[in-house]
Amino acid sequence: MNIILLGYPGSGKGTLAKDLSKTLDMVHVSTGDILRDEMAKKTPLGTEATSYMAGGRLVPDRLVMDMLKARLGTESRGLLFDGFPRTVAQAEALDAWFASRGQEIDAVVFLNVAESVVMARLGSRRTCTGCGKIYNVVSNPPAKEGVCDVCGKPLATREDDKVEVITRRIQVYKDQTEPLLAYYRASANFLEADGGKTPDAVTRDVLGLLRVKP
Ligand code: AMP
Repeated sequence: MNIILLGYPGSGKGTLAKDLSKTLDMVHVSTGDILRDEMAKKTPLGTEATSYMAGGRLVPDRLVMDMLKARLGTESRGLLFDGFPRTVAQAEALDAWFASRGQEIDAVVFLNVAESVVMARLGSRRTCTGCGKIYNVVSNPPAKEGVCDVCGKPLATREDDKVEVITRRIQVYKDQTEPLLAYYRASANFLEADGGKTPDAVTRDVLGLLRVKP
């Protein structure tokens, strides 16, 4: 099974993807995480992506596609895309790539959340610097302030979760990613879930939509 998660930054795609990939034994493909990893390792791709990401803009389609093909070319498990595709050009490139591999997209899950909610969530999001677990200082804080419950490493605010960048990311979503809803909505495998619920409830709802027993 191959699944795409769609939704605003802060709609809960990352948290849902972590749950679903465990339950369904799929590969969690977060292009944001891969790009941050490339940046941390200071690879040529990471270096090229840095200024786009820091400013809340999208990394060019060509770089993203090359990176995915290099990472996933030999992967045979189901892919769970989180944060990809983000433009119609990426969606078309994904269709062509899957067609050449005899694969298809089995479900597109849109997490529907109001803009005001994602703005508030992004401002209070903290991410573990060790394992990447996502917290929210208001609605889902760690047991000990600033420290990950799972691995004990410090939590941090992502560079692009700073207030000035959040507004740009929301606008970029509206301009470049929202058109994907029309691209996918016409297909039978388009599913929509209320992303305003708690993470557990969202996972339950999505497994129900996918007709998988939790
Ligand atoms: P995310 O972790 O998904 O919120 O992504 C963080 C940042 O990485 C985005 O604001 C973009 O700069 C970049 N990025 C992640 N995925 C993509 C993508 N599919 N296409 C272009 N840029 C991306």
